[in-house]
Amino acid sequence: MILHDPVPRNDRIVGAYITETVAREILERQGYACAACGTAVTADGAHFDHIVPVILGGQHTARNMHALCLLCHHRMMLLQRDWFARRSDEEPKA
Ligand SMILES: [Zn+2]
Repeated sequence: MILHDPVPRNDRIVGAYITETVAREILERQGYACAACGTAVTADGAHFDHIVPVILGGQHTARNMHALCLLCHHRMMLLQRDWFARRSDEEPKA
């Protein structure tokens, strides 16, 4: 079973699920600015985040990812953690 698309040999992996080519595509789309606050981000300093979380079916594609600054990425992770915690509290118990 293939879990991910094969990565071309000359395309360096820069994150858990993202290659240099995809990172550059995202950063160019956003004008090298954080998608949340607009702070300038670089290829080395950007944090790449899934717009639709993987656990909800989001893909590891440029279309489903955006670049955030460190602070916004941490804020986003806290919001997602709280959302999942509230969601699991609301689910009916068997
Ligand atoms: Zn930001």
